[in-house]
Amino acid sequence: MRRTTTTISTETFELANFRWDNLGFDHVQTDYMYVMKCSNVGEFSEGELLPFGNIELSPSAGVLNYGQGLYEGLKAYRKEDGSILLFRPKENALRMRLGAERICMPSPTVEQFLKAVKHTVFANKRWVPPPGKGSLYIRPLLMGSGSVLGLAPAPEYTFLIYVSPVGNYFKEGLKSINLVVENEYHRAAPGGTGGVKCIGNYASVLKAQSKARANGYTDVLYLDSIHKRYLEEVSSCNVFVVKDRTISTPEIIGTILPGITRKSIIDVARKQGFQVKECRISVEEVFDADEVFCTGTAVVLSPVGSITYLGKRTSYNNNGIGVVSQQLYSFLTNLQKGVTEDTMGWTVPLN
Ligand SMILES: *Cc1c(COP(=O)(O)O)cnc(C)c1O
Repeated sequence: MRRTTTTISTETFELANFRWDNLGFDHVQTDYMYVMKCSNVGEFSEGELLPFGNIELSPSAGVLNYGQGLYEGLKAYRKEDGSILLFRPKENALRMRLGAERICMPSPTVEQFLKAVKHTVFANKRWVPPPGKGSLYIRPLLMGSGSVLGLAPAPEYTFLIYVSPVGNYFKEGLKSINLVVENEYHRAAPGGTGGVKCIGNYASVLKAQSKARANGYTDVLYLDSIHKRYLEEVSSCNVFVVKDRTISTPEIIGTILPGITRKSIIDVARKQGFQVKECRISVEEVFDADEVFCTGTAVVLSPVGSITYLGKRTSYNNNGIGVVSQQLYSFLTNLQKGVTEDTMGWTVPLN
């Protein structure tokens, strides 16, 4: 049955010659990237599609010396009929504008961002995996590409988009992950840049992540840096705690990244009759939870099988998948893939 479906689908659109069954989350080179520059601070000129390849930067580029850079991440899915859907791309455009403001960069307008994303996906459309095999991950970057020696905003900026087909973030699809609460390192502090997707936030989590992985955990759960008591998020995902019919997630107060998946799950859960609270959640509350899960574009929704805090391990659903996690995951992924009707108005067809 499965084989028949694949055959029918691939006949209706052109696909790159690729082993689609083995997709993971490694970068796969595709045909084109999009590049747009802004020299006179303020406005970006017309962008262009270029063959995917290396870019040239001065050693004194702002991004290399002072980390003036942001990234975004979104996905495109292929429907059974061969057409392609983007998920909430405008949200990424708006978030990039907020991030750019925080680190003193000009940013593309929402219209420029959307047009660039569409052009890039269209040019690389043979790399959007067949239905059920994965998605096309879209990675917009914004960086200070101009030369600057003394600490100051760069005189020139480059907006670039590249794409890569990806499979499930975790091979088994919806698989539970094991988290360890980090007590020594923090990813963000009040007044810092934790609330925007600036590149510097990510190098700083590698050490705690490596330590966690060496000890057999999947990733780190961060606590707030003042009280060392309230949940913030995982290295690149937001976190939710389920107790009876109430779902809680840390409120957006500058130190956590306002995830688009987070925002979507909040709306989906409310629609399904759950009470959703955005509030302070102390680490003790996770001991008592029915389910914990993480959200992000890459994972969509990842159930947490266990959380270890100060050597004490709490497991959920025998390390399996809770019913609430499963229900929300299915609802959101079916909507993103165009399997069910998009009653929320979130998907954008590529045409
Ligand atoms: C990108 C990111 C998320 C998830 O955001 P989405 O918009 O859902 O992909 C959560 N936390 C951090 C730190 C992130 O960088």
